[in-house]
Amino acid sequence: MVHRGISVKYTEIFINNKFVNSVSGKVFSVVNPSTGNKICDVQEGDGHDIDVAVKAAKNAFKFGSLWRTMDASSRGKLMHKLADLIVRDKDYMAQLETLNNGKPLSDSYGDIDASVDCLRYYAGWTDKIHGSVIPIDGPYMSMTRKEPVGVVGQIIPWNYPIMMLAWKWGPALAAGCTIVLKPAESTPLTALYMAALTKEAGFPDGVINVVPGFGPTAGASLASHMDVNKVAFTGSTAVGKSIMKCAAESNLKRVSLELGGKSPLVVFADMDIDEAVDITHNALFGNMGQSCCAGSRTFVHEAIYDEFVKKAAAAAMARKVGDPFADDTQHGPLVNEAQFKRVLGYIESGVKEGAKLQCGGKQWGDKGYFIQPTVFSDVKDDMKIAKEEIFGPVQQILKFSSAEELIERANRTNYGLASGILTKNIDTALMFAQAVQAGSVWVNCYDAVCSQAPFGGFKQSGIGRDLGKEGIENYLETKTITIKVPQKNS
Ligand code: ADP
Repeated sequence: MVHRGISVKYTEIFINNKFVNSVSGKVFSVVNPSTGNKICDVQEGDGHDIDVAVKAAKNAFKFGSLWRTMDASSRGKLMHKLADLIVRDKDYMAQLETLNNGKPLSDSYGDIDASVDCLRYYAGWTDKIHGSVIPIDGPYMSMTRKEPVGVVGQIIPWNYPIMMLAWKWGPALAAGCTIVLKPAESTPLTALYMAALTKEAGFPDGVINVVPGFGPTAGASLASHMDVNKVAFTGSTAVGKSIMKCAAESNLKRVSLELGGKSPLVVFADMDIDEAVDITHNALFGNMGQSCCAGSRTFVHEAIYDEFVKKAAAAAMARKVGDPFADDTQHGPLVNEAQFKRVLGYIESGVKEGAKLQCGGKQWGDKGYFIQPTVFSDVKDDMKIAKEEIFGPVQQILKFSSAEELIERANRTNYGLASGILTKNIDTALMFAQAVQAGSVWVNCYDAVCSQAPFGGFKQSGIGRDLGKEGIENYLETKTITIKVPQKNS
């Protein structure tokens, strides 16, 4: 299968270092969001395939296996090898990502660079994960060992297909776990290509398995599986809750969740207005707004509100929409028809509830799932578009008049993923940074996400953290080993 000169090489389920067909024989279509046309069929995994994959991962994790007897530093070398192979195939992978997800090619390159960084960052951790020796009472020596939690199920979304995979594989492999990954049904192609690279890199059979399929079947089976020791999920809050329920009702597997957001990004009047427009624009429209940490509530001080709205609308109208393969495109289609319809529904509700549509609001072009960059002003806190995660290119601009009022309004949400403040006043910035209920606070910048620093949510935006040292902790059990000694010598 060749599309725009890009051939799709892998469309099957990857288990035990082999590509296989689904047990049921079923396949599902993967669609190009720029056109709405089918790219290819992919083997559809369900509970039966998850069973086979979990068995492979369990076998790879058993006492005495190649993976368990490997030096930690050698795990790190394998991870570096995988990163090297991604770098080698970067051009192909970026094109495959853009074909399947619709994001501009330059964004796909950026995601791949960040994924390589993430794998290398965690490769460095492999031989630096250790416990401590503890001076307990009595004639004992007591120590802790940090052990891999075991077989992990990972369920990822479609907005950053390669990058979400790297965020999940990096810490799991560094910890020494074995993996069954279910990519999103809309975007399985780069995950399958990554699977092939893990084999080439030399990961032992069963350490990494990739089962494409749907959420309620393959995903739920993974979350409910009795032989999965931990499930890691990135996606919507509603599905996160159902994953936690599956985990609780099956074997109390460990759970980490990175969920939705409705993140406040606040502009004070002392900030340079053009810089503020630029930062808030990118915070919302990056990745066509399909980002869990999108700055989706833009709060602007009343003193600059009207001017800001005019400039924000001009920036949105200037955003270059089009073929994601074109060099100058900044804005491609949304990922699929369901998202396209959902986002148009939110735009309709904004208009109905009395927000002022400054620009956009409609489909762009006449094919694929493009939506014009859209800006609403006069948005009130209780409107649906100010409360719910839209996950699309729709900016909500709200007005505020005092810092005190702002904190209360910024925190009046069930979410708590990210936040930002733009001001030249250090007292205001610090006050906000301490008072806002969010896992990330960006001051005079936004989206400064990097492998070394933890990322995740307060409240219903998640449990646990991705990235950084905290990211590995999701994948570790602590074991206390206490040994009697003939004589204490403290
Ligand atoms: P989005 O709204 O971003 O598509 P979802 O939370 O629906 O987010 O999907 C994210 C991932 O969760 C996808 O891989 C999807 O297949 C999976 N998923 C959806 N529903 C379930 C479910 N009930 N159980 C497990 N995984 C699910």
